[in-house]
Amino acid sequence: MLPYGRQSIDDSDVDSVVRALRSDWLTTGPEVDRFEAAVAERAGVGHAVTATSGTAALHIAYAAAGIEPGDEVVTTPLTFVATAATAALLGARIVFADVDPATGNLDPKAAEAAVTDRTRVVAGVDYAGVPVDAPAFRDLAQRHGLLFLEDAAHSIGSTLDGAPVGSLADLTTYSFFPTKNLTTTEGGAVVTADDDLAARARAFKNHGLVRDRAQQRFPDEGPWHQEVHTFGLNYRLPDVLAALGTSQLARLDDFAARRAQIKAAYDAALSDLDGVDIPVAPAGAAPAWHLYPLRVPAQRRREIFESLRAQGIGVQVNYIPAYWHPVFEDLGYQRGMCPVAEDYYRREISLPMFPGLTDADVECVIEAVRKAVAG
Ligand SMILES: *Cc1c(COP(=O)(O)O)cnc(C)c1O
Repeated sequence: MLPYGRQSIDDSDVDSVVRALRSDWLTTGPEVDRFEAAVAERAGVGHAVTATSGTAALHIAYAAAGIEPGDEVVTTPLTFVATAATAALLGARIVFADVDPATGNLDPKAAEAAVTDRTRVVAGVDYAGVPVDAPAFRDLAQRHGLLFLEDAAHSIGSTLDGAPVGSLADLTTYSFFPTKNLTTTEGGAVVTADDDLAARARAFKNHGLVRDRAQQRFPDEGPWHQEVHTFGLNYRLPDVLAALGTSQLARLDDFAARRAQIKAAYDAALSDLDGVDIPVAPAGAAPAWHLYPLRVPAQRRREIFESLRAQGIGVQVNYIPAYWHPVFEDLGYQRGMCPVAEDYYRREISLPMFPGLTDADVECVIEAVRKAVAG
């Protein structure tokens, strides 16, 4: 079965990991600093805080934003549940707003209509790798005194009007899961230009420990002393995995270029099919395509999906609207709330999209899709 996503690991990646394994530092060492510096540089901002997953990165980002019980977070339903779950765990009420029918990205107007006095964060997701309308969200955030968070689990390597994802929002989170645009096995990061947000993020991922004597309440306790001012967790990405990240990051442009070739090949071969929509990006966006979300007629999605699986194509569906999960249903969230996202979900099938796909694999997928759609 051809998977829908897969890591690309070469000798440079293996060598990098082996070097870290043989070094003095398996965790909390120089490879973490090196990877964080490279991620921050790539994002075009001053701070990168690595974490053990994209989910951890989201949890850290919401904690850094100061999310507390009673706060509201406005976000998209067309995402992996972690975008909402991590804020809910901090006590936030999640308010889902609908998406743009062309891109599947959170619609700034729908998001704005969902803002109340209690909204603290508006969180967009760069669905499939296409950056959200960041200028509109920055403007919204400024006018309402909120923070704009970009869940860029799909979009490291993407740019908007020439600016890298990572430089567009107050807080941006990445995932380095194997299917994503680059991998550290499990892993993630928060990037920000804001010194205070970065300091809070760094504290939360490391138990809230304060080592700087100038900031300690009991600085004369002794040279061993460190103290906790706010609760945190251990979300530290080890050096062994950070070393893989540094090596992968050096390959990101090649990955994105191959993803663009595959996207173009699918587009050329599938855009003429009846009732089928290919993914699009708005002017100014240069996505590193994480997914290839094809849309087929809703009443035939299941049949086409099953035909593709039967033909050995490991397609996926991204995503069930987040509030359809029983955990949200049990809180009273009802179907029908975001009809555009629901329609997008009902029609969506993610085709295989990863740099290791050969031209022959791509041809194979195209033939299988044409056959499945022909019925
Ligand atoms: C993958 C993903 C996450 C979670 O990342 P993990 O590294 O798997 O924890 C969050 N949001 C979106 C949109 C994702 O695709």
